[in-house]
Amino acid sequence: MSILVTGGTGYIGSHTCVELLNAGYDIVVVDNFCNSSPMAADRVREITGKDFKVYRCDIRDRDGLKKIFEEEKIDAAIHFAGLKAVGESCQKPLEYYENNIWGTVALLEVMRDAGCKTIVFSSSATVYGSENKVPFNETMPVGTATNPYGTTKIYIENILQDLYKSDNGWSVSLLRYFNPIGAHPSGRIGENPNGIPNNLMPYIAQIAVGKREKLSIFGDDYPTPDGTGVRDYIHVVDLALGHIKALDRALGKTGVDIYNLGTGIGYSVLDIVKTFIEVNGVDIPYEIGPRRPGDIAECYANADKAAKELGWKAERTLADMCRDTWNWQKNNPNGYEN
Ligand code: NAD
Ligand code: UDP
Repeated sequence: MSILVTGGTGYIGSHTCVELLNAGYDIVVVDNFCNSSPMAADRVREITGKDFKVYRCDIRDRDGLKKIFEEEKIDAAIHFAGLKAVGESCQKPLEYYENNIWGTVALLEVMRDAGCKTIVFSSSATVYGSENKVPFNETMPVGTATNPYGTTKIYIENILQDLYKSDNGWSVSLLRYFNPIGAHPSGRIGENPNGIPNNLMPYIAQIAVGKREKLSIFGDDYPTPDGTGVRDYIHVVDLALGHIKALDRALGKTGVDIYNLGTGIGYSVLDIVKTFIEVNGVDIPYEIGPRRPGDIAECYANADKAAKELGWKAERTLADMCRDTWNWQKNNPNGYEN
């Protein structure tokens, strides 16, 4: 069984490639490397001892994708490729709509024409918006995104639902990720943000390695136990394993299935900072700053549906996430550029 992994050299994609190979799947990776390095694929080969093809191709390039489908026998796609920086999406909405939405439409057209109708899509908890109350569950109506990135996830979910309505031969899995952090325990692959990290954990990791001075905590006056924002942090290896379970199920059926991939536990910013310091024995200076526009107080999953239907549960602890992040960052202070 051969799986096309778009965005397979990115953060979540590379970890999922490892688990796909470990589970016995063959993989074909497509990436344009706009936010990743081909070296990630070498590291995946090194971790798994298995080889696979990587195509440098933009998913908006229909002819390029078509050729790949002609050369390879592909049974399903896991679709990670997309731009993901919330702040940047507000500066460059057209680029985000073009890349994420048209890229997905191009991929779907090529898949349809090739008769490959199983797709697992990287959605996000951001689709719950600010209207719903935590814990978020899959039966809640999709909310209103506060930025173009989130809007692309909502549109793509809709496109995939419409596609299934038009042709019941499709099998669509919409996986709504909460906050992926951590790295492979080998320390060979991990998150490698360009420039100043927007997300909490990579920022903390860069302070620990001496690249940044101090963390600004975005507000301590939220209605949460310690006043700082609460999120559902999930170890990227658990997240990757969730994809294998979703894929196993999707291959044997048709329909649209939506799953939250989170732990169901909310941790505050201060919980993360304190655990990182404790587990790794490093100092993380911080100060309290203003709230970040668009942030919500709390975001965590009800993860029961994935447990019940996929037999999947996140198992790794916050301490594991902090330890593995640091192991990656200290061994690769410049990401894949070493
Ligand atoms: P990432 O940037 O590390 O990986 C995305 C990959 O897609 C990169 O390798 C990039 O080069 C590639 N890519 C982007 N546009 C492309 C295009 N047009 N053609 C070919 N390749 C292209 O991001 P990630 O954190 O691994 O996220 C993977 C997916 O999960 C994304 O769709 C993201 O929106 C979604 N997601 C991520 C998070 C998170 O916190 N990391 C949360 C929810 C959802
Ligand atoms: N956060 C912070 N300082 C930072 C980055 C993030 O205090 O430099 C907070 C942010 O306000 C939120 C939490 O950390 O409460 C997680 O933020 P992240 O951007 O990682 O994820 P998201 O908000 O998109 O869920």
